[in-house]
Amino acid sequence: MVNDCVFCQIAAGLHPADVVYESGTVLAFRDIHPQAPTHILIIPRKHIARIADLQPADAAVMGDVMIAARLVAEQIGVDDAFRLVVNSGRSAGQSVFHIHVHLLAGRRFGWPPG
Ligand code: AMP
Repeated sequence: MVNDCVFCQIAAGLHPADVVYESGTVLAFRDIHPQAPTHILIIPRKHIARIADLQPADAAVMGDVMIAARLVAEQIGVDDAFRLVVNSGRSAGQSVFHIHVHLLAGRRFGWPPG
């Protein structure tokens, strides 16, 4: 755990969050500034700052994150249409440096993304 990382704090139960799914390796909770009617963040419990920092040893946990995205989409009833977004690096839009997958649903999405 990285003490000054808000997502590590959420994963440790030290910071409040609206948790919708948890397992031994993954946590999913609602975004505090939703960009769609459904906006959930799926994180590995392990602190990894960015996709750009991933190592081969992280393959299993990142697989768990993607499977959790599918489970959460089903659980919430949006599995017919949803978008997953991962920002890596500040100029790509990353503001919290603990890997998270945004699960967005409930509205139409444009392409290319902004
Ligand atoms: P990104 O800009 O891709 O790094 O996304 C970070 C996301 O985390 C943003 O959508 C924020 O609204 C969200 N966020 C930041 N702090 C919290 C928090 N304490 N609980 C829930 N979502 C958060």
